[in-house]
Amino acid sequence: MSKTKQILELCSPTLKAKKEHLKGLTQTCNYCSGNGWFWGRDEETFEGIKVPCPMCGGSGRMYPEITIEWKPSKE
Ligand SMILES: [Zn+2]
Repeated sequence: MSKTKQILELCSPTLKAKKEHLKGLTQTCNYCSGNGWFWGRDEETFEGIKVPCPMCGGSGRMYPEITIEWKPSKE
């Protein structure tokens, strides 16, 4: 199975802002392998039911949200 990887290149800001927010590329959820759900069992009827993935919420896809804080170097 192929995997999506993203490399982050960090460059100090040109604007007077010490924090920046980045949204990474949407990727297939590796927890559920992109299915979006797992098989579960209904507690009353004991029938097999689809339980949404706790990581991607059932979409099968996720994206990273990254906050970077720049600080003055004292070296
Ligand atoms: Zn998932």
